[in-house]
Amino acid sequence: MTIKNKLRTGIGFLFVLALICCGLSVYFLNRLSADAGAILKDNYKTLQYTQDILNVIDANDKPLSAKQFAVIDANLIRQQHNVTEKGEQELTDSLTVIYNDIKLYKGEAAGESQLRSQARRLIYGIMHLNMDAISHKNDVAADTASRANVLVAVSAFLLFTIAFTFAVNFPGYIADPLKELTARIRDVSNRNYHQQIDFKSDDEFGELGQAFNTMTKKLDEYENSNLASILFEKKRIETIINTMQDAIVGLDEKMIIIFANEVACSLIGLTTDQLTGRYAPDIALENDLLRNLLVNEQSRLKIFADNRESFYSRESLSVSSKSKVIGKVIILKNITEYQQLDEAKTNFIATISHELKTPISSIKMSLKLLEDDRIGNVNVEQRQLLENIDDDARRLLQITGELLDMAQVETGKLQLNFGSTHPRNIVDYAVKAIKFTADQKQVSIKVKCDDTLPEVHADLDKTTWVLINLLSNAIKYSHEKSTVELIVKKHKNDEIEFSVKDHGKGIEEQYLSRLFERYFKVPNATADQTGTGLGLAIAKDFIEAQSGHIEVDSEIGAGSRFAFTLKRAV
Ligand code: ADP
Repeated sequence: MTIKNKLRTGIGFLFVLALICCGLSVYFLNRLSADAGAILKDNYKTLQYTQDILNVIDANDKPLSAKQFAVIDANLIRQQHNVTEKGEQELTDSLTVIYNDIKLYKGEAAGESQLRSQARRLIYGIMHLNMDAISHKNDVAADTASRANVLVAVSAFLLFTIAFTFAVNFPGYIADPLKELTARIRDVSNRNYHQQIDFKSDDEFGELGQAFNTMTKKLDEYENSNLASILFEKKRIETIINTMQDAIVGLDEKMIIIFANEVACSLIGLTTDQLTGRYAPDIALENDLLRNLLVNEQSRLKIFADNRESFYSRESLSVSSKSKVIGKVIILKNITEYQQLDEAKTNFIATISHELKTPISSIKMSLKLLEDDRIGNVNVEQRQLLENIDDDARRLLQITGELLDMAQVETGKLQLNFGSTHPRNIVDYAVKAIKFTADQKQVSIKVKCDDTLPEVHADLDKTTWVLINLLSNAIKYSHEKSTVELIVKKHKNDEIEFSVKDHGKGIEEQYLSRLFERYFKVPNATADQTGTGLGLAIAKDFIEAQSGHIEVDSEIGAGSRFAFTLKRAV
């Protein structure tokens, strides 16, 4: 039966019970009222009529007047019409006979008085008869009332009991399944799909339970198939990560280690179980490498593992989802092979450039001798050829010098001779060294360097080398007959800034950040402008080794400005 029909039946049953109860009450009330009406009509009125007759008879001993006869006539007729009890008719008839006799006597007092007393006895008889009837009917009414009481009480009790049972059980009948359903839905929201509902009824709740069970079954199937594919993907990714040659460590946003591949585990010296699920800073307290990985942002690391020194480059990637950082991945790339090759290259360059310096110097020496008239005369063409060779030898010497400097920097063998010197000294040396080149291109160098400037703490040779390099570039990339400005000034933070500004073609913005990289040259340079691409890289190393910094500013068509700072001498 559906809930709707159950509700209808329950409430209908209660309604019928209430109706029965009311009907019984009305029935008994009617019966009581009928009993009371009967007493009033049958007996009380008789008592009234007979009393009225008695009053007239008892009024005095005188013969009855015409008026009194009229009263008795009227009441006697009424009584004749109101005979209800057994024996009452006979008494009433006798009273009528006596009364007629009294009428016949007409004033004979002795006979009338006798008749009157007979009439009185008859009246009393009728009265008694009716009073007995009243008493009897009263008993019947009382009996009816008590029966009514019992019946109405029983049916009211029944009604109350059923209504009470209904009131107590019905809310539970509706609410219990809903409660059960709510609890199961909560379980489902916690991904517990093994829940089943057991509603035995064949109403809407039964159907609801079945539908819910089907839903959880389907969800369970879906979850299992989803889980299987997620687990499969996870396994695949884990295998890929584990077979990688690089060490990889994954952390969540709370710095808990989520995974570490085999290479990472062997480098850190802990097993996967000892790493995963743990708070990384806790492990870092006792593990130098992990501490370095977490704290150190430097990109190169030297790690001693498996009885040999290896080099790794460290890369840290933030993992974000919906613009929220949810973790990071630290990758250690093994670059030992490249490092060794790089070292071999640097050593090779250092050896070659060092070895080349001697023959180039002897070529220059031989050229000097050839140019000397005491050795012999050379004609104009030969002199031109000698000058060309001298020029190339000078460039070769410069290149080998730069290569040697770079090798020194790369092998960490750069040695600085610090001292206090006035900026003017550096400026004078550099301008003097570059003057010949500037004159050749008719570029004038405007110097602004106050004598009041404080001394700088610097390596005179290296700084002069940097300034010559900047001036040489400025001249190289300037138009003929233009100006190069060399300005030295003091910064607010007590640093001294040397800047070289030209009015040449300028450098495109996209190349500015790469200018200080080794071997970088801005594309599309003309033949006479090509160099090694090492000058600015070495300049940066020299300046940073002296705790200064170097920067560039350029605008296409307007020229470039290179500037470096040095610390003031204490
Ligand atoms: P190079 O020995 O080739 O000059 P540098 O390291 O000194 O090497 O310069 C790197 C590149 O920067 C050059 O190839 C050149 O293209 C660009 N460059 C340097 N200085 C200037 C300048 N003053 N104006 C325009 N380009 C410049």
